[in-house]
Amino acid sequence: MPLVDHHCHLDFPDFASELNEVVARAASAGVTTLVTISTRVRKFNVYRAIAEQHPRVFFSVGTHPHQAHEELDVPVAEIVARSKHPKCIAIGEAGLDYHYDKSPRSAQREGLLNHIQAARQSGLPLVIHSREADADMADLLEAEMAKGVFKAVLHCFTGGQQLADRALALGMYISASGVITFKKSDALREVFASVPLDRLLVETDAPYLAPDPHRGKRNEPSFVARTASALASVKGISDEAIADATTANFYRLYDKAKTS
Ligand SMILES: [Zn+2]
Ligand SMILES: [Zn+2]
Repeated sequence: MPLVDHHCHLDFPDFASELNEVVARAASAGVTTLVTISTRVRKFNVYRAIAEQHPRVFFSVGTHPHQAHEELDVPVAEIVARSKHPKCIAIGEAGLDYHYDKSPRSAQREGLLNHIQAARQSGLPLVIHSREADADMADLLEAEMAKGVFKAVLHCFTGGQQLADRALALGMYISASGVITFKKSDALREVFASVPLDRLLVETDAPYLAPDPHRGKRNEPSFVARTASALASVKGISDEAIADATTANFYRLYDKAKTS
């Protein structure tokens, strides 16, 4: 039952002392393929080195919304050029985070628009981070998709039904994190029940958001099996069926992962 953790942050200091063990534990839990996600283009060499050291770890290039204001000077052409590395399979994560508002909203928006351009030009999927920004995100995605198509996933989805419906109508994928295992997440589970099986992904977003029963501890890619199992219950199917579907969806969306 192979699973993919398409969104984790293996460069974070939380993993520094035992990265080999963390990747090995994931593999023995059936989580055979990982994508370590960029939060800063200027840390590109760090992500690249991790991917080059581990055969089944891929990486992305982009600027997290928290850091958007720090990297608006990075040209779209640079993001696209860096994405040519054979193991760089996605653009992002970029987006809108109105919960923390660590970067001015105008900067987050400008950063996201740059990354959409990079996704169009590279043909790689865009990893979108959206928190408490449902209406602005849906409006922006619809307007941008009308100007030119791009592939995308709403990662660690915690939004409402409307954002899910509008993203699905644009052909996007929706990814579940450990949040769907939490007791209070009934409304979120309802949203996920409505997402077609061929648009679902699972992730850890490690080291954050460990699923129950690990909640509050450091998360790691091997725990994605818990989230997959919770998603299987939500969809009323077996763990094997959710693993098959989410893994097939991963290779369809992140189609560069196959050939690397
Ligand atoms: Zn994120
Ligand atoms: Zn992330």
